Amino acid sequence: MSHRYEKSINAFEEAKKVIPGGVNSPVRALKSVEMNPIYFERGAGSKVYDLDGNEFVDYVASWGPLVAGHAHPQVVEALKKVTENGTSFGAPTLIETKLAQLVVDRVPAVDIVRMVNSGTEATMSALRLARGYTKKNKIIKFIGCYHGHADSLLIKAGSGVATLALPDSPGVPESIANHTITVHYNDLESVKAAFEQFGGDIAAIIVEPVAGNMGVVPPQPGFLEGLRSITEENGALLIFDEVMTGFRVDYGCAQGRFNIAPDLTCFGKVIGGGLPVGAYGGKKEIMEQVAPVGPIYQAGTLSGNPLAMTAGYETLSLMTPESYELLEEKGAYLEQGIRHNAEKHGIPYTINRVGSMVGFFFNEGPVHNFQQASASNLKRFARYFQLMAEYGVYIPPSQYEGMFISIVHTQEDLDFTIQANDRALETLIAE
Ligand code: PMP
Repeated sequence: MSHRYEKSINAFEEAKKVIPGGVNSPVRALKSVEMNPIYFERGAGSKVYDLDGNEFVDYVASWGPLVAGHAHPQVVEALKKVTENGTSFGAPTLIETKLAQLVVDRVPAVDIVRMVNSGTEATMSALRLARGYTKKNKIIKFIGCYHGHADSLLIKAGSGVATLALPDSPGVPESIANHTITVHYNDLESVKAAFEQFGGDIAAIIVEPVAGNMGVVPPQPGFLEGLRSITEENGALLIFDEVMTGFRVDYGCAQGRFNIAPDLTCFGKVIGGGLPVGAYGGKKEIMEQVAPVGPIYQAGTLSGNPLAMTAGYETLSLMTPESYELLEEKGAYLEQGIRHNAEKHGIPYTINRVGSMVGFFFNEGPVHNFQQASASNLKRFARYFQLMAEYGVYIPPSQYEGMFISIVHTQEDLDFTIQANDRALETLIAE
């Protein structure tokens, strides 16, 4: 197998000399699936091409942003044009209002929205706002949800933190960690217990409305509704972290799909169409506490820069309500194919899917929370990842991440993927 990735292996050796672990984000190192990282050279539509000339059908989609696929011509053309006019001014440009307007139009709970540069910035800023607005200190987060790497949120997090078995990070002061209360996803009782204990000082609950950082874990019926009423009863804010789900699971995001209005919403990924963007927005009354209208400070040298805004605007413009029906169909087709294969090979499995987010666990299930997700067979997943790559499909390299389907995945791509899955499961059983 190593010959197949020779150039990637050499590139990684060079990178390790000057970049920590050779990568700029830990999961990319492919440590948990015992592989060398694959260095990509080019992406086009649903496909990616690595340095060694291997072609893959891609379900990582840059970890979610590329809902319209790689290098969509409309996005690329617009980016070329805008780049010629200068990449950043540190002053407002019209495209910022255009993107903000699109968000406000599609998400009724968002009256106004502030652009930042990453999902981490979005959640970090939303927390500061929630604390400043409520004048309370503590926050509730769910075990296995990942909200970026701000100190308050890097506690019992999913995604790479779970993949690399780093439960909490050194460098987060205890005095900060003490203000984060962790409870179980899909378990309203544990949320109620937290409010009974700390109620007077809880500023907000932050939640992924569909958890996508412990594999894909949908909210159980009544869970999000319960969070809405508990926060209302206790004078706390409900923050939906829609960095992953925003404009991915529905035209109106997860909150539209499940019909719940949070107080604040965090965005990232799709909203930047593959460029670095995050955003947080919500009720006017709360958002107007942010500087320069209000006293709560948050700023950014490159926030709202024309390139990032253009990629986001063009990507969101490509996504019509029909696009989400299409994603739903593609998702259902892939789910059905994988289910059929897993049944055929008698492999214990669970598939959780919400629209174009597909979580395939080596675990009998059900998977409703992190504890259940982490009962998956991680060794088997690692081998599965290697085999899928071998057969030309690039999936997220962790059991704690879901696959992302884009509007440009073709029927042929899906059939190819289902076939690769069939071969991979067959091999797993035989080995
Ligand atoms: N929130 C969620 C739900 C995420 O999935 C992520 C990233 N995977 C983040 C926040 C952090 O976003 P970023 O990596 O852009 O900082």
